[in-house]
This record gives sequence, C-alpha cells and structure tokens, in this order.
Amino acid sequence: MKKKLNVVLSYMKTKRKTFITREELERWQQQQVDKHLEFVRNHSPYFHEQLATHHWEELSYMNKTIMMEHFDSLNTKGIRKEEAMQLALEAEKTRNFKAQIDDVTVGLSSGTSGNRGIFLVSEQEQSEWAGVILAKLLPRGLFSREKIAFFLRANSNLYESVKSRTIQFSFFDLIEPIETHVERLNELQPTIIVAPPSLLRMLASAKQSGELQVAPIKMISVAEVLEPVDKKYIEGIFNLRLDIVYQATEGFIAHTCSHGTLHLNEDIMLIEKKFLDKEKLRFSPIITDFKRTTQPMIRYELNDILTLAKEPCSCGSVMTSIESIEGRSDDIFRLSSLTGKSTVVIFPDFIRRAVMAASDDIEEYRVIQTERDRIVVQLKLKNQKELAEQQVVDKLKEIFELFNAQLPTIITKPYEKQSPLKKLKRIETCIQGQ
Ligand SMILES: [Zn+2]
Repeated sequence: MKKKLNVVLSYMKTKRKTFITREELERWQQQQVDKHLEFVRNHSPYFHEQLATHHWEELSYMNKTIMMEHFDSLNTKGIRKEEAMQLALEAEKTRNFKAQIDDVTVGLSSGTSGNRGIFLVSEQEQSEWAGVILAKLLPRGLFSREKIAFFLRANSNLYESVKSRTIQFSFFDLIEPIETHVERLNELQPTIIVAPPSLLRMLASAKQSGELQVAPIKMISVAEVLEPVDKKYIEGIFNLRLDIVYQATEGFIAHTCSHGTLHLNEDIMLIEKKFLDKEKLRFSPIITDFKRTTQPMIRYELNDILTLAKEPCSCGSVMTSIESIEGRSDDIFRLSSLTGKSTVVIFPDFIRRAVMAASDDIEEYRVIQTERDRIVVQLKLKNQKELAEQQVVDKLKEIFELFNAQLPTIITKPYEKQSPLKKLKRIETCIQGQ
C-alpha cells in the first residue's frame, strides 16, 4: 500500500514540476544536488572520504570499473559485493528476479564489454522511479486503463513496481521465441509496447504478414540505438510515432516528449556534458542522479554518444533537446591517417548516413570494423544486389577520403540475423585486443 502511494506521489510531483526558464531549472538542480550530497556524505564511507577533500564538481568521473572497485564502501546500506553478485547471478540463472537484500533489489547490468556491474535499488527508489516513468510516458494519464507489454533481457523487481489496478503490466522475456511473443501479444492486446528496436522490427514483420494482430497506441524503443532504417519501417507498419526511452541501469536519462523530441531528464538528474568534438555537438553524459540514495551516482560517466539538437523543441521544455543517441564511444571507427602518423576518428553517425545515402534497396545492414584496416559490411537488400553493394562501398570510401584516412579493405557479406538476446548494433567496432 505504501509502495503504491509513493508511486502516485512521485507521479504527481513529476507532473506538477515545471520550469519556465533554464536558470530556474539550474537553480533548483543545484539545491537538489546540495541536499543529496549532504545525505551521501553521511551515509557512504567512500563519498565521505572523497568529499572531505574535494568539492563535488572536482571529483573525477566515476564509471562502472571504479564503482565496482569501491562497491562495499560506496553504497549506503553496507551491502557487500560478493553477496550481491551471488544473488544476482542466481537470479539470472533461474530467471527468477525477486532477489532482494532487505528491501534492496540487486540487478546486473548487461555489460557489452564483459565487465558486468551490480546495481542496487531500494523499494523507495523503485516507487519514485515508477512514478517518474509513468508521469513521463503514459499517454492518457495514470487513471486510464493501459496494458503494457514490456520486453526485456532480464526481468527485475524494478519493473514489477509499475503495476496498479488500471495498469496491467506484462513481462516478455527476450529468451522466448518470436512465435510465443506473437501468440501472447494477440491474446493480451497491449495498448503500449516497450521493446528493443530489433524486437519491434520482428513484431512489425509479423504484423505485416498478418500473424500479429495488435494495434497499440504507443510504442517505445529501449535498450538499443534506434536507427532511422528501423524507425521508418516500424512506424510505417504500426502507423504511429515510435518514441524513445533512454534508460540504463545507471538511471532514466532521456525520453521523447509529446512533440517528438528527446529531452534529457534534468528534473531527476544533473547532466554535465563531456564534449567529444570541436563543434561541441557530440557529448557523453556525466550524470549526478539526486534520487539514487542506495548506490549514489555522482559524476558517473556513460560512454554513449549524444548529439545536441540545433533548434529548441516547440514543446517549450527548458530541458536539453537531443538530436540523436548515436551509439557508444567504443564504437567510434578509428583508422590510420594518410600519413600513417595519427589516428582518424569517425563517429558512428557518419557511417550510418553514408550507408543510408547509398541505396534505397537496403532493408537491414551492419558495418563492423574488425581490424584497423578492415571493415565488414553485412547487407540485406531488396533487389539490384550487386549495384547496391557497390554503392555502399563507394559511399563509405567517400567518407574515409573526406576524413583523410587510409582506405581500409571493405568486404561485403549477406546480412546475418542475430539472436534477440544480444543487443543489436548496426555500427560496431570489434577489434581483437583493443
Ligand atoms: Zn519537446
């Protein structure tokens, strides 16, 4: 009962909170940070020590490695890493995700690079998170009946907390085959579907063939980069706008507003920008979440690449508008310069645009840098296969020339379908030993 009340309270607080000017938002954020630091200083031995000698804005950026290294002294509940890891692994194995230590849910982050993180969230934090997410995403308010189909690699208590009399929440485990999902969805008739775009794409194709018969009013892309090629296909088949929720185990970072623009959730966290280019358009977010008390996220660096929108959004929100989430900084292509003396850095978006501009016959693609001088392109093409392949190679070469990079060998291959359990990355760097 208390839990539900907390969800509703958080929902109303989020709905009510509006900021007229950017200055007003920033002033309010600073107050929230100060309040939060006061708590953290008193309850986390790690931050007690750090903040004794540093102003918070001077703290070096935190990341998963540092967080895991100082796990025991960093969290505010005295939870030990070994105990938490054992519990999380057990939950993953049995796919029973109810594991808790006291009232704290333990979760594993799906680390793509192999280093997995353990995340801790208390019941209070869960309820607050649920309230915020409902306030920002429910298209018809808290008291309208919705059936939400939520596709995830692993369930967690976190998501179970978004449940009420009017909101029916059904979890779909990505480990199940697509036929099972289609059958369950036909029965459920969800009004909202939340899933990674690779899965949404499979659902779109099932709808196209007539097997899937659902008509949701809202669809939300999560967990993978939403590529224009997939967005267009999914939106076309379901005849709606596909929205984005940018949510990681580290926090709920951004979402699409009613006008279709991604905004940073600066009403729950302060986000500094670590710029990655001279033009100051691309950045990695450094988050300070003033709602996370069990496992504080202070100046936590995410290695995603976000691009700032050039124009403010017509919705009038003072929260930062984002043009796109490009991918992870691990997936930047690095080639040798023409002189061989330096490295040329090419952001995923340049590769994406080159492929999309090459041919209208591309249905799906992947571009993978496998060596410093070798790039593999997988293509699923409608027709004119040889012509389209050549056009993609030419467009990529144009980009590499533009950047004064030594031309790598570009190999084209047929498109290989990936398991839905793996995060789909259309642009990826997989160089051994790097
Ligand atoms: Zn907006």
